[in-house]
Amino acid sequence: MRYDVLVVGSGPAGGTTAYTLAKEGAKVLILDIKRAPGVPVQCAEFVPVQLKHSFPEFFPPEVIAQDVKDMVHFTPWGEVVSMNSEGYVLHRDRFDRRIVELAVREGAELRLRTRFLGFEDGRVWLEHIDRRERYPVEAGLVVGADGPHSRTARLTGEHTRNFLTTAQFTLPLREKLSDLLIYFRDYIPGGYGWVFPKGELANVGVGIDPEYPINVMDSLRRFVSELVSEGLVESKIVGRTGGWIPAEGVKRPLRGKVILVGDAGGFCHPITGGGIANAVYTGSMAGESILEGSLEDYEEEAMEVFGSSLNRAAEKRIKYMKSWDNLRFIIPRTWIAFEEYWKEE
Ligand SMILES: Cc1cc2nc3c(=O)[nH]c(=O)nc-3n(C[C@H](O)[C@H](O)[C@H](O)COP(=O)(O)OP(=O)(O)OC[C@H]3O[C@@H](n4cnc5c(N)ncnc54)[C@H](O)[C@@H]3O)c2cc1C
Repeated sequence: MRYDVLVVGSGPAGGTTAYTLAKEGAKVLILDIKRAPGVPVQCAEFVPVQLKHSFPEFFPPEVIAQDVKDMVHFTPWGEVVSMNSEGYVLHRDRFDRRIVELAVREGAELRLRTRFLGFEDGRVWLEHIDRRERYPVEAGLVVGADGPHSRTARLTGEHTRNFLTTAQFTLPLREKLSDLLIYFRDYIPGGYGWVFPKGELANVGVGIDPEYPINVMDSLRRFVSELVSEGLVESKIVGRTGGWIPAEGVKRPLRGKVILVGDAGGFCHPITGGGIANAVYTGSMAGESILEGSLEDYEEEAMEVFGSSLNRAAEKRIKYMKSWDNLRFIIPRTWIAFEEYWKEE
């Protein structure tokens, strides 16, 4: 079995890479340990409007749960700062599935319950998880789209070691919302709390720096009680999730015959945690560069478009967010909604 490209991971980064390549006739294998792409959802599900403009085919109506207009930030010192943030809260499972379906429709082969193990004898070793069967495949290139704890990154060089840890409940809203809400609180250290509306429901979560001595579930429960007592949400838990967010900035994505896209390459914002759009864009860029036979162009373009802003945010995280005792100083310097962010070098 020989493929032009093996794509490890069927999230938005891997799905987009496979789709971009298969559309032009490349022989692509995309694999995932999951039983179905996008399930379980580990996400607050917001994407900016620009992503739909760039990839309208990824956004059939059933993928969008609701439109949002602004992002409203609530500070512990009582200031409320609103910023335009037009976009969509998705049904993320449907979104991931849609991209993979497009890739398969274009001729990509999808193997689920299949784990990438590593490289040996110039071949790539995979494992069928249920059958516990290990076997090799040959591939001209391997695209590492295997998310925050990427094995492809780990086996080929520098990889992310610092993460934000998150926990999220889906809760009923008392009244529908048209904005994304962001809360900064002393009990959500090195991160923030979010309320992202999804029709009658909302994704309510916290992301914290795990180096602080607070349990992420305790932080989330405290956040939910605050929102319940404000009358924003009901306490009935409809869904639970969580996960890890790379918090270090971008790693060199080109490693010989292995190319990293999305969270695997650290293309996720180390402060806001936003990574879906970057995953899609890097997947598309990587696919185009592979088709043109110019892998260096991918590295150059990805670093130019994302490297400097994500690495700058990572530096700010280290500079300001490793202590959590003066939020009035830290928050305006680390969030783009505040003027101080832009003044600070
Ligand atoms: C709680 C939470 C909330 C978030 N909210 C938002 C948000 O609102 N907006 C936003 O833009 N971003 C958000 N993010 C970040 C966003 O989810 C990621 O940036 C995005 O999923 C990255 O896409 P990806 O394709 O790179 O990786 P993933 O979506 O993580 O996909 C990687 C895939 O690789 C598979 N895989 C891993 N290892 C292997 C292996 N060895 N073999 C085979 N398959 C493997 C995994 O099963 C997975 O399906 C959030 C993250 C979390 C945890």
